[in-house]
Amino acid sequence: MINKNLKARGITDERVLRTMGTIPRHLFLEEGLQDQAYSDNPLPIGSRQTISQPYIVGLMTESLELRGTEKILEIGTGCGYQTAILAELAEMVFSIERIASLAFRAQRTLDSFHYHNILIRVGDGTYGWSEEAPFDAIIVTAGAPEIPETLKKQLAVGGRLIIPVGSRSSQTLLRITRLSEEPDDIKTEDVCGCRFVDLIGEHGWKD
Ligand code: SAM
Repeated sequence: MINKNLKARGITDERVLRTMGTIPRHLFLEEGLQDQAYSDNPLPIGSRQTISQPYIVGLMTESLELRGTEKILEIGTGCGYQTAILAELAEMVFSIERIASLAFRAQRTLDSFHYHNILIRVGDGTYGWSEEAPFDAIIVTAGAPEIPETLKKQLAVGGRLIIPVGSRSSQTLLRITRLSEEPDDIKTEDVCGCRFVDLIGEHGWKD
């Protein structure tokens, strides 16, 4: 997976490559899917949701430029695989999942690895997590119609937000950097085209 799906496709951050090489992705999947865990495909995780393909996980993580000291907000815990990677690469991860059964399963899986720097909450992540803001990095793992203002406001100055934005059928992965105290003073970069499940909530798509 590391050589073929990540390095060969341009992922170069050594910390990301090392971390993704050590976290057992198959343990985040149901037994019947574990033999497909290291192929470059999204896979079902229940409740009509998916775990993203390894390349996209690598690309999104690399785009956050983590150094180990960051406080991160993740919207869309899913099965917890991306959460585990973030917990290895940053200081603290706050993760929100709107589907309770997925959040509970992710919590159980992550507990089995004994992470002490992850807090998961069930709810609508489009509101962010204001009590813990500002965040050095925010990662949204579901596709949004636009960048939620709430998340821009909860990004630290100099912080990075990575989010797929577009229609329900296709999006552009955007990397936003907040440049000053003014939340709309941002730099926006297109990372690539992508297709994610919907970000559903007050500042996302309606259910
Ligand atoms: N990164 C995850 C993993 O490693 O399994 C995959 C995430 S999956 C592509 C997107 C997730 O976002 C789904 O689990 C979905 O329920 C969740 N989601 C969608 N809208 C949300 C919202 N408003 N707040 C929190 N989670 C949301």
